[in-house]
Amino acid sequence: MIPAPFDYVRPTALDEACRLLDDADSGDGDVKVLAGGQSLLPLLRLRLAYPALVVDIGRLEELRGVHDRGDHVFAGALTTHDEVLRSAVVREHAPLLALATATVADPAVRHRGTLGGSLAHADPAGDLPAVALALDCVLVTASARGAREIPAAAFFTGYLETALEPGEILAGVRVPKLGDGWGFHYEKFHRTAQAWAVVGVAAAVRTEGGSIAQARIGLTNMGPVPVRAHAAEAALRGATPAPAGSGGGGSAGGLPGGGRDPVRDACGLADEGASPVADLHAKPDYRRHLARVLTYRAVRSALG
Ligand SMILES: Cc1cc2nc3c(=O)[nH]c(=O)nc-3n(C[C@H](O)[C@H](O)[C@H](O)COP(=O)(O)OP(=O)(O)OC[C@H]3O[C@@H](n4cnc5c(N)ncnc54)[C@H](O)[C@@H]3O)c2cc1C
Repeated sequence: MIPAPFDYVRPTALDEACRLLDDADSGDGDVKVLAGGQSLLPLLRLRLAYPALVVDIGRLEELRGVHDRGDHVFAGALTTHDEVLRSAVVREHAPLLALATATVADPAVRHRGTLGGSLAHADPAGDLPAVALALDCVLVTASARGAREIPAAAFFTGYLETALEPGEILAGVRVPKLGDGWGFHYEKFHRTAQAWAVVGVAAAVRTEGGSIAQARIGLTNMGPVPVRAHAAEAALRGATPAPAGSGGGGSAGGLPGGGRDPVRDACGLADEGASPVADLHAKPDYRRHLARVLTYRAVRSALG
């Protein structure tokens, strides 16, 4: 389909983009920021969005790139998925981001789509919001009114909704560096390779003396917003994993197995507090089952 007519501007500096957004009547949802266009262009073509003005931020070089900033990694919002994957800084200091980004779509989408676009779009099936949540990332915005820092836990407010205010651009993401002892994994269940997640699990686990000292788990597509699996995280604290191949224990949370495995028992709580929806691909009960099974797999993989 052909999009409804709209005005189009392509600023070359962040200040100019902020001014354009501020000048526009941004209060009525009439203005849209365009980054990689992988989600917005289909919406325009289907006329599910019909802004009067599109502000293309693709030329804002200051929003590109990944930087090592001491205690955190700063990724500019316009950094493409492909650039994230190629970044040595990300691989070294934010491997969970790389693991999840590698599962996003296909090379064509990853060359155009951006980290900031994925977060700002806030699709519950998107893989990166759960990672931002699990890693306690901070999202940095820019606008004519100044910059804001929004913790990931406060950023995703509803289905395709974020805490971004009219006139605000997502400028970048601060990814805290986690110290020694952490392991990471992103486990994704999808119908075909390169498809959207039916459910995904981002896990970061720190061990100390053979036991789990800390676990952070973000769930993809388990509700209108990404979810932190707080009950499972709490239950994992202090758990000593059963040796690999020992079979694990009980049938906690519907997870099969025999013998005792406190990690599996804890992962059986992964869907607590989630509110998965029914759609063409899965019913809520099946999503809950997937969340428990995939959390166990993700945590076991993160434990190495
Ligand atoms: C075929 C296909 C398969 C895909 N599969 C997956 C997948 O498996 N997993 C996954 O996670 N994603 C998937 N995606 C989405 C992809 O990751 C996109 O990169 C992402 O959804 C949007 O990024 P973008 O840069 O293209 O944003 P755009 O499409 O340009 O924008 C998306 C939305 O975010 C807003 N926006 C973008 N950037 C900013 C900013 N800096 N500040 C404020 N607002 C902003 C726009 O206004 C718009 O509302 C898929 C996309 C396609 C087309």
